[in-house]
Amino acid sequence: MPENLDPFVIAQQQLDEAAEIMNLDKAAHAILREPKRVVEVNFPVRLSNGEVKTFKGFRVLYNDARGPGKGGIRYHPQETLSTVKALAAWMTWKTSLANIPYGGAKGGIICDPKTMNDRDLEALSRAYIRALHDLVGDDVDIPAPDVYTTPQIMAWMFDEYSALKGKNKFGMITGKPLEVWGSEGRFDSTAMGGMYVLREAAAYKKIDLKKAKIAIQGFGNAGNFAFSLAKKLFNANIVAVSDSKGGIYNEKGLDYEKVKEAKDKTGSVQGYEDAQKITNEELLELDVDILIPAAIENQIRQDNADKIKAKIVLELANGPVTPAADKILYERGILDLPDFLVNSGGVIVSYFEWVQNINGYYWKLDEVYSRLDEIISRSFHDTMNTQKEYADKGKKITPRNAAYIIAVSRVAAAMKARGWY
Ligand code: NAD
Repeated sequence: MPENLDPFVIAQQQLDEAAEIMNLDKAAHAILREPKRVVEVNFPVRLSNGEVKTFKGFRVLYNDARGPGKGGIRYHPQETLSTVKALAAWMTWKTSLANIPYGGAKGGIICDPKTMNDRDLEALSRAYIRALHDLVGDDVDIPAPDVYTTPQIMAWMFDEYSALKGKNKFGMITGKPLEVWGSEGRFDSTAMGGMYVLREAAAYKKIDLKKAKIAIQGFGNAGNFAFSLAKKLFNANIVAVSDSKGGIYNEKGLDYEKVKEAKDKTGSVQGYEDAQKITNEELLELDVDILIPAAIENQIRQDNADKIKAKIVLELANGPVTPAADKILYERGILDLPDFLVNSGGVIVSYFEWVQNINGYYWKLDEVYSRLDEIISRSFHDTMNTQKEYADKGKKITPRNAAYIIAVSRVAAAMKARGWY
């Protein structure tokens, strides 16, 4: 039977699997299978060419038992409510696993930002906040950047919200530019968090990162910084990287600056000369030690999971491995670390930004990185320890199951304490 690749169906399947293993209370399970609040807004924007266009936007608050909703806003032509719901669910598990005082949320607008100028993007961003301002805020639901949204867009949203409320509300949104009190280290925090997890995972699997071969799918915010940081922190050998047009491979290693130059000059990493051109499918199946999917969802599936040769799969993208593939990788002894652990660095540093905004006291970069390292390394070890506890009881579970069990238990305990079930 073909796999169902609908992101929200996958998010529910993952929860159901964990609920069964941990014997989750039925009422708690039912609450956690669905978002608490789903909002669709349709709003007109006057574009710079004089046209008035109506856009559709979403904001989903999945669960707020442990604190206000937290989650990015995506601008994408193929944005769907199902994707936003799935990502809001994953944010709930992400903030809970990191043990930071938030729930989960996500937003999106169906639009094509690549075809819009700055004036129109600003008008769109301000209109979205006018449509939703009663439902977001520093103690309600706190947005952030995600696919195709930037610090500049966060600054416009913060400004619009503050104008509506008649006062500066810096903590209503994170991922802002430093000039309006964003946090040091936010821009590469997702990849940096992923690198701390990789360091711990390599030690766990007894892999020497200096000698390891790494392939990275994607060269956007997540993949680009993962490449440069893996080089800088571990002097690792990145042998392959890709973007939507395809990938490049050189067994001896790729030069970061030259890959970046090729991407800037030609629009694709395939403009790099000293490498063999490969497809995205071939990149996934390379004989490497570490595979970092850092692009889009559903890349490792039932039909290609048995061809993966890496010893560690580090899920920097959201949802790159399907539930069926998850099991295949586990049975083949590949350490597949789940997205909501690996890419939680972004939301952890967003949390630091919010704490700094609320206190009006700002941290240095070293402090941001060391606190991020402490939280995300603890999440990795919590996950592996939980997996081992179950193994000791004779129950084989994947790292994703283990991370779910930790995250879901915390949210369920908060709901129980509050009397929701
Ligand atoms: P991005 O838009 O900056 O980059 C995406 C990259 O993927 C680009 O290099 C693009 O060319 C490539 N790509 C697109 N389609 C592809 C395809 N079919 N095959 C291979 N590559 C393809 O996005 P990003 O911010 O780097 O996000 C990447 C992933 O990481 C997403 O799943 C996102 O949700 C997740 N993520 C990002 C952050 C963050 O802080 N940026 C945080 C958490 C999770």
